[in-house]
Amino acid sequence: MFLSFHETLHDSVRRFHPPAGRPVHLYVCGPTVYDRAHVGHARTYLYFDVVRRFLEAEGRTVRYVMNITDFEDKISIRAAALGIPSRTLARREEARFFRDIDRLGIRPPTDRPRASEYVPEMVRVIRRLERQGFAEKSEGALLYSPRRNLCTRNFPLAHSLEQLIVPEPGAPSPPTDGTASGFVLWRPPTPPCPSWPSPWGRGSPGWHLECYAMAHHLLGLPVDLHGGGADLKFPHHYTENELACSLDQVLFSRSFLHLPFVTQNGEKMSKSTGNLISLAEALDHADADALRWYLLGTPSTDRLEWSTQGFDDAIRRSRDAHATLAAAVPDGAGGSLSVAGLRTLRRGVAHDIADRLGVDRALGRIETYTTGIARRSNPRYPRGSRREVNAELGAIDRLLGMRFSKPASGATGARARRAG
Ligand SMILES: [Zn+2]
Repeated sequence: MFLSFHETLHDSVRRFHPPAGRPVHLYVCGPTVYDRAHVGHARTYLYFDVVRRFLEAEGRTVRYVMNITDFEDKISIRAAALGIPSRTLARREEARFFRDIDRLGIRPPTDRPRASEYVPEMVRVIRRLERQGFAEKSEGALLYSPRRNLCTRNFPLAHSLEQLIVPEPGAPSPPTDGTASGFVLWRPPTPPCPSWPSPWGRGSPGWHLECYAMAHHLLGLPVDLHGGGADLKFPHHYTENELACSLDQVLFSRSFLHLPFVTQNGEKMSKSTGNLISLAEALDHADADALRWYLLGTPSTDRLEWSTQGFDDAIRRSRDAHATLAAAVPDGAGGSLSVAGLRTLRRGVAHDIADRLGVDRALGRIETYTTGIARRSNPRYPRGSRREVNAELGAIDRLLGMRFSKPASGATGARARRAG
């Protein structure tokens, strides 16, 4: 079954067909570790979790790289305010981030490289750029300087660099002359941010280099799928494409997926405005399946306006669906659920995900099914044993990262979900 989704490089629904015969290469921009993850981050990572689960259910192996930005001005400034070394803060917040997404049932990436461990690789990238004439000095810093618009020539589908990534409405516009990118490759020390020795003196590399260096080193370019939150389209992913075009004559990725923001009172949730619900806070209020239900219950192309009422409604719907299925899974042979009906449900859920990443529709399908059971209106087929019923429900669990099957005794909660 092919997966399709709204592909944001071309701004249209496209089929995703990564090359066969090797793992699928997925690269997702990870967190800057200076504070707790919020539910907006969680929604983005949840969708990539579902993409990965779907591909694995289809028999593909997925190599999933998520970078950790562990040096940056925001980290240093917060660490200074707390009176602790920035490295201490970064490690603490990184551990919290992975604990929080684990609680939500998001499976850990296969690789989680830290920026601070890739500085020598970033220096090598800058040297390649310099040798090919893509770097220029400016006021003590080294800037990227495109000699010509390689992407336009190589990728006629993307008529110009400005169209390589369609910006989010309201975001700053990409440069229109195709030359004025000028983003930082290497900058002089900016205490309290850490610095490293380099051929251009002590300093630190620009952020946009980080993902290029890691993806190039760990996966090779182009990767199969790249993305993150919608705010990364420009300038971050735009510049990654520039680097890949300049150095490798390819785009950074074959496909891009960007998730729209989670908003509250119409405004984007962000750390800088303080207008946010942390993931840990949301998980203290509801179980992981209910939060997954809420965050995945809006189409992946739409913003999610966070509301207490919406969250409570999702909690109730998730709880009802779980309770109905739990009551119907038999303790032994000869239960009350139809295996044929469950198989149809499982196939429907997979089809919904394959069709434009319709997790919201898959959840609606489960709700219709469980409401049918509750009203005893589901078709009558021979009833399945606990093992047969659990096998079908377990397949749905693995796709959605939820827990509808009855785990064997001793395997509960996040552990059972991860194993699924
Ligand atoms: Zn990135």
